[in-house]
Amino acid sequence: MREETEPVPPWFLSLGYAIGNMRISLVTLTSVIPAWGQIGPRHEPSLNHLDFESSLMVQPAKRGTSIFPHYAQSIRTFVFCCFTLLMSGSPLHAASPYSLARFSADVTIPLGHRCMGVLPTKSTSIDDPLYAHGFVLLGPEEPIVLCAVDWCEIRNGAYDQWREALAQAAGTTVERVLVSSLHQHDAPVIDSTAAQLLAQVGLEGELYDEEFHQQTLTAVAAAVSACLDSAHPITHLGIGQATVQKIASNRRVIDSGGRVNYTRGSRSGGNPVYREAEVGQIDPYLKTLSFWNNDQPVLALHCYATHPMSTYGKGKVSSDFVGLARNRRQLDDAKIFQIYVSGCSGDVTAGKFNDGSELHRKQLIDRLYKAMVKAWRDTKRTPIDQLAFRNTQLQFRFHPGKHLTHQSLRNTLEDTEQTVEKRILAAMGLASRQRVEAGQGIDLPCIDFGLAQLVLFPGETFVAYQLLAQKLRPTSFVMCLGYGECWPGYIPTDANFDEHFEDNWLWVAPGSEQRLRTALQKVLIQP
Ligand SMILES: [Zn+2]
Repeated sequence: MREETEPVPPWFLSLGYAIGNMRISLVTLTSVIPAWGQIGPRHEPSLNHLDFESSLMVQPAKRGTSIFPHYAQSIRTFVFCCFTLLMSGSPLHAASPYSLARFSADVTIPLGHRCMGVLPTKSTSIDDPLYAHGFVLLGPEEPIVLCAVDWCEIRNGAYDQWREALAQAAGTTVERVLVSSLHQHDAPVIDSTAAQLLAQVGLEGELYDEEFHQQTLTAVAAAVSACLDSAHPITHLGIGQATVQKIASNRRVIDSGGRVNYTRGSRSGGNPVYREAEVGQIDPYLKTLSFWNNDQPVLALHCYATHPMSTYGKGKVSSDFVGLARNRRQLDDAKIFQIYVSGCSGDVTAGKFNDGSELHRKQLIDRLYKAMVKAWRDTKRTPIDQLAFRNTQLQFRFHPGKHLTHQSLRNTLEDTEQTVEKRILAAMGLASRQRVEAGQGIDLPCIDFGLAQLVLFPGETFVAYQLLAQKLRPTSFVMCLGYGECWPGYIPTDANFDEHFEDNWLWVAPGSEQRLRTALQKVLIQP
């Protein structure tokens, strides 16, 4: 159990209430006095490519290794309170009510693992590791968790599993856990409901390695739990943005005959038609939201709307250019934890500027890294004086296409003449259809910092929705994360449907726009 549920002696309670925020006191103490209460080996965090936790943050002792077996945490808190009173000579009500704990865990898939759910080539090498990075925001209300995963997608039952595990680890409700995949393609799609359907037809383990997944989720949850004792007080929020040069371009292009198509992919730049076509609708800004303890930055969260791939399909596992830009930025200052999330970019790729070559991959890393640096230089810091959390449920209709009826999907799933990839796709469709028919909605959560809002969208939401969200709060800093619950696949606008947008990665029905608009208004516009 977490520290606040452990027994507190009566003599401590009166002082504890006077101070008002025991958690802040405790976590601050563990930052100030690293080895306090520990004997034996420290808990080792999950593999961390940058080792920032071990250099900066204190990991808690394993449960049961404390030299204060009973009232240990209460005593630590009491001593810290006295220490703070002595040192500050001022009332503690001036302390920030907020703190932030950072976590990281390795989520690299093993060799021979399926990538992107349906790619025929399974993982053949690990070019660079995949990570889950995140934070737990602690304050007067229940904690809020954000977890950014270097995976393609997490869907249906697996999305529930992630949120439930992280909620339990952080001591909060499922609603307040935001899980966002970065959407790299040489990375897994995890859907436990589809996996069950596949197992029923003899395709167990084809979509993903369930044992690996369970171990990984356990490790991420352990990292969340472990980080809570080393939270940093947070007093200020930073906001900054920068125009990104030559990365994003819209899939939508108009051919020489004036016909609209959505065929510009991530590495289409080798074809002059796609290279020379207009950029199209994008959000040109990389946004950076940062958390500060007075003048010390603690964490920078970067968000940009583009598909994250420079190349894929050869089984070379990688966090791709977005993860590599993030890793490079992390090397600039180990004290500031860097997290990257993909924005609403269902229809946005690097295809105008990228032909899949190594040269273009390096350029994409470089351009994104430079935008991160520029957004940081642009950052303005403001005291955090409010934090609200709002959520509403989206109820999308399932796509009415004949290829997606229950019977059609079931037929494909059971047809041994079909390729395994087509049967996996059918299982994913069937899993999502069952979820919709059971009336299970999708959360649309929003963290409102007053001058900035952070919204997590489902699936491959098109960039128009990100721009719409920003228009709903025109004077605010609205950061839109994509790839939350990923079963919908692409989420086009009415205009895209009117232009006959079609894809086998599309499971929502036309008319989704109004539902998403209404939900956005609910979470973004304060009642
Ligand atoms: Zn995609």
